[in-house]
Parts: sequence; structure tokens; C-alpha cells
Amino acid sequence: MRKIASLFLVSMIAGQAWAEEFTIGDLEYSVDFRNKTEVSVGKAYSTKPSGSIVLPSTVDNDGKTYTVTSISDGAFSGCDELTSVTIPNTVTYISYGAFSGCTSLTSIIIPNSVTLVSNYIFEGCSGLTSVTISNALTKIGSYMFKDCSSLTSVTIPNSVTEIGEYAFRGCSGLTSITIPNSVKTIGNTAFAECTSLESITFPNSVTSIGYSVFSGCSALTSFVFPDSVTSIGGSMFYECVGLTSVVISDSVKTIGSSAFYGCTSLTSINIPNSVTSIGSTAFRNCSGLTSVTVPISVKEMGTSAFAGCNSTSTIIYIEHTSSQPSGWASNWNFSNCTVKRGCKVIYASVNNKDLGTVAVDGSNYAVKGNDGSIWYLAETTNGTATLTPTSKGEHPFTNWDDGNTENPRTINVTGSQKYTALFGHVEAIDEAVAPTCTTTGRTEGKHCSICNAVLVAQEEIAALGHTVVVDEAVTPTATKTGLTEGSHCSVCNATIVAQEIIPALGEQGGGNENQSGNENQGGNNEGGNGNQGGNENPGGNEGGNENQSGNENNPATSVSESADNELNIYAYGNVIVVENATEEIFVYNAMGGLVGRDAALNVSTITVNGAGVYIVKTGNIVKRVVIN
Ligand SMILES: [Zn+2]
Ligand SMILES: [Zn+2]
Repeated sequence: MRKIASLFLVSMIAGQAWAEEFTIGDLEYSVDFRNKTEVSVGKAYSTKPSGSIVLPSTVDNDGKTYTVTSISDGAFSGCDELTSVTIPNTVTYISYGAFSGCTSLTSIIIPNSVTLVSNYIFEGCSGLTSVTISNALTKIGSYMFKDCSSLTSVTIPNSVTEIGEYAFRGCSGLTSITIPNSVKTIGNTAFAECTSLESITFPNSVTSIGYSVFSGCSALTSFVFPDSVTSIGGSMFYECVGLTSVVISDSVKTIGSSAFYGCTSLTSINIPNSVTSIGSTAFRNCSGLTSVTVPISVKEMGTSAFAGCNSTSTIIYIEHTSSQPSGWASNWNFSNCTVKRGCKVIYASVNNKDLGTVAVDGSNYAVKGNDGSIWYLAETTNGTATLTPTSKGEHPFTNWDDGNTENPRTINVTGSQKYTALFGHVEAIDEAVAPTCTTTGRTEGKHCSICNAVLVAQEEIAALGHTVVVDEAVTPTATKTGLTEGSHCSVCNATIVAQEIIPALGEQGGGNENQSGNENQGGNNEGGNGNQGGNENPGGNEGGNENQSGNENNPATSVSESADNELNIYAYGNVIVVENATEEIFVYNAMGGLVGRDAALNVSTITVNGAGVYIVKTGNIVKRVVIN
């Protein structure tokens, strides 16, 4: 299925996406048919670039400039003399097998512009010792670093949610790996045959595990399953011959087939009472096993689950009392290891593994868990056991889930019993912050003073916004400047709309008032009449009103009278028209904000947003214009 899908993608890319091509030097560029300004880059046909190459971010051809946004399918595949490649940060996609088999490549930086990679892009780059992976990548491509045998460490960025199948298979130089806690899915055999892998940080985010993920990782000595894992993948640790310690969390419900097949160094395994199904050959050939506990929760046991375990020294402690519970394969214990049935089990766990551990001590223990949270008391006994909770980092033990507060606590073992030790955080207050006009506030929260865990999240309170108060306009007089209307916030006093100074009107003020009337009339005559006359003095008689209107509302208007080139200011629809201005024209809204300007022309026009009162200023002349 996967092969077919990728072949389909390849043919799509080859057949449609990049049809036009041009070659410059050793590099061939293919124009993206969907976006004709973008190209993919690869080596030119029958060339074999070697040494160090720097891929350009743009390329010119035939008078056009193209941006290099992807690296072609098989772009440099097999260029085994290529020692270094610089990928520009215009590249967002690296196609199928782009650098596969570049065995002399020692380091590569995948820039943060890259959001998607296809499969096999560095497969078989056996000289690669250092890689920097884009922090915008969400999936490590399938086969991406397969057989990169010189890689000793890799940082997977925490943008990654999926590690593709075979992604690191055969990276035999890899000694440690940290899987970030963004990763949810790990594909089949992703880390198989990483024979030097000693340490794995496996996050509590992984929910889906493919098959054979760590098979053949012979240097691995221990593994702890996080709570996010409910199903152990098939062949997950197949022939991990160095594995001595495995902690299966009590979230795990199923153990896949052959999960621990051939883990010959494993001496004990505790299966928690969350597990309901153990797959066939799950522990086959675990020849070092001396003890296994199987709780009553296990309803299904696959064939040969313990075949090949040591028949003389392996003891399987089983909580079930019947010799062969239904649902169990009849040859699950093919090796005839010793089985002790009807064992009583003390399950002691903690409410949060980050806060504390609990130990069980007493007589007749066949098996003790090693994660401090799940312990087993094997074989029927009526003795006593001591449970000891221990805090991690001073987190206090508060009580047991049944209300008991003893620490340590002694119990009589009468049957299988379960106890949970409850630990708490230490609360510290995160004080509330009041919001202001412009800054957000926060509600009170709580965190743990020991581990900083958030106990009550602080919630953001939106900024209050200003409380706007209008600063009224001041009309200028012949000798005194005026102010446009402005506004400020009555809470914080911030200026919202600054008041602008209107110059004093100067000498000619008085005699101009009639002319102001003239102007209005002029405006009326030219067609804006209905609006203007109506607005300024509704219901009045035209001629006289307009003069008055000019007088009352806009004494600032000042025009000197002359015959043909007289200044004329009026509105026509949403356009303020100024005729015969001699200085640049400014138009302000009622709040004093500049909304338009125009040069002085025979006819200057300034389009405004719509209805409202506007102040038009040219030179020292100011006129108020109303648009309905
Ligand atoms: Zn804490
Ligand atoms: Zn304010």
C-alpha cells in the first residue's frame, strides 16, 4: 500500500507538477506548474555533482526569477562524492530519495522552512555524522535515515508528532535517542537494528507503536513504558539480548506477539493487573527468566508465550487458581516452566509517579517490581507485609486511598490486595493581576512550589479598553488659535485622538462671513445643494440661512473675495471639492483625525468615508463641511 502511494506521488510530480525545465551548470530546475514562479532543484541529467554545493534560493532564467522551494525527486541520489549540501531557507519540501546513497555527506542542516519531507531522503548516507532537523517538520519521513550508520545522535524537534516507519532502522552508530513528548506515533521498525542504542528517552505522549520498533537493539539494557502506552507493539524488543530491566506500566492492556522474543538477559518480568492479553511467543526464548508474575486480569494467553524459557529455573507465579484458565492457549507454557497457581498479589501503586514511590517488604516474596509502584507478593501466605511510601522531591505523602494515613503501613496478607499511596503537591499562590486599559490581567492561580506543576492555571483577563471622553473642539478667533475635537481616556488619561491646533484666523476674519455664505451657495448651485443647505439650516429660507449657517457653524471659514478664482469648498456625495485653493488642503474628521489631503489645484478632490462632519483646512482657512 505504502509503495503504491509513493509511486503515485512520484508520477504525479514527474508527470504534472514540474514540466518546464532548465539547466544551469550541474543543476536542473523544474518549474512548478501550479506556481510558475517556483522551482524544484536537483542535479542535471548525467551529471554527478561532487564536493560541496550550495543550492541557490533564487535562480534567473530567460529574464525571469524563480524561487527554489523544493528539492526534486531523487535530486542527488547516488552522488557518492558529495561532501556537503547547503539547503536554502526557501525550501519547504524535500522529495523522495533526494539524497539517498550520498555516502560522503557528513553533515546536513534541514532548514526550518522545510515542513514536509518524502520517504528515503537520506537513506544509506553512511558517512552522515550530524543532522539538524527543521523545527517545522511534523513527521520524520519513512526510511529518512535508514542505514545512516555513522549517526551517533539525533535531536528530533518537538514539532514532530510521527516517526515514520524504518526512519532510523540500521543506524548502528546511534547510542542514545530522545523522543520528544510531541510524538504520538512510531512507525514499524523505526529504530530496529540500532545495535549501539543504549538509552532511549521515551515520552509519555506515544500512544501508537508499530511492530519491531526496537527489535535487534542489542545494546539496550532497560526500558520503562510511560502511561500513554496501552498496547505493546508486536516484536517491539525482539532479540534485544542486552535488555535486563523492563517496567510495564499499569496502563498497558495488551502485550503484542513476540514482544520480548529472545530477550535472553531478562531475568524477571512483572505483568501488571491491567494486562488482559499476552500475545503468542511474547516471551519465547527468554532463557534467563527466573520469575514471571501473571495477574488474574490476563484473560488471553497466546501460543508458546513462554516457550524456550528455562524449564528448570523459570517460575511463573499465577494469580489464577485454575490450572488452565479459559482463553489460554493449551501450549502457552510449552517449556513446562514451574507454575505456581493461586498466588496472592499485593499491588501497591502511587497516584502520581512523579511525586513518590511505594515499596513493599515482607516474607515470601518471589518477585518485586522495580519501578517502585507495583510490587508482587507471590505464593499463598497469611503473613504480613509492610508498605512504605517515599516522597520524590519533598512532595508529601498524604494518605492511602482507603483513608489510612500510616507510613509505613503494615498489612495482613489474606488475599490479593491493592493499595494506592497518595502524594500531593505543595501549593503556592500565583497572585492575580488586575487588567488595565491596555494590558491583560490574570486570575489567581496555584502551582507546586516543589516541582512547579500548574495546579490551578491562571486565566487571562482581557484588557479593559479605554473609557473615551471627548475633548471638545475650540473655535479659533481672529487672534487666538483653536483646537480640533479630540478625546482621551478618563481612567488612564491616555490621549486617544490628539487635538490639533487650528491657527488664528488673522485680520480678514470679519468681512469674510458673507463670503462664507457665498461659498455655500456656490456649493448648492453645483449640485450638493440639497445636502448642504438642509444640514446646515434645515427648514430655513435658502439664501439667508446659508449665510447664517456659515456664520453660526463655521465662523472659521475665511475666503477673500475675487471674481473668477475664488476659493470654493463643498461636498458632492462622498467627495469634498475644493476649488481654487492656493495651499495644500487637509481634511479632518470630527475627532480631529486627518482623513485626506490633496494638493492645491483648480479643482482638488478628497474622497471621505461617508456621512459625518469634516473640517477642511487650506492655508489659514478652515471650513466645516457636513455630509449626510
Ligand atoms: Zn509538585
Ligand atoms: Zn485608559
